[in-house]
Amino acid sequence: MIALDELRSQTAAHCSFCDGFPVDGVSNETIEHFRPKCVGRFPQHAYTWRNLYYCCNACQTAKGEQWDDGLLAPDEAGYAFSHYFEFDFTTGAIRPAHGLDEAAAQRAEVTISLYGLDTAARRRCRLLEGRDWASMDEDTRNLDLRAYRNFLEP
Ligand SMILES: [Zn+2]
Repeated sequence: MIALDELRSQTAAHCSFCDGFPVDGVSNETIEHFRPKCVGRFPQHAYTWRNLYYCCNACQTAKGEQWDDGLLAPDEAGYAFSHYFEFDFTTGAIRPAHGLDEAAAQRAEVTISLYGLDTAARRRCRLLEGRDWASMDEDTRNLDLRAYRNFLEP
């Protein structure tokens, strides 16, 4: 499928929302319609290229057909992960970054919530990946071959 190949290459085969990798190793590869295609809410966006994201099954299932105008798209102009989010490195939790104004914090919160980025399972996965990363010889590290790159090298 050409669209899937193209989208996958844009994120180095990482999920656009949770940064999971390899997506097809733990889950199914999906194409996320950022603005939901159902119920005619955004029919004009459903199949436009900018609305499509390479996505893991877990993120897509969590969000389903939900929508919030504050939801953050990872390719939004001026977007930087570290601007909106931070981690608790002892628990693997993700939360809105410190010092955001209320509107930005709300956007981070709703993005975490709708994509299920802070479930117990996600926290565990980040912690395991972090331990693995820490135990690797620095010369053999390749960030693009690991999940949760922002957690490993904030
Ligand atoms: Zn994901």
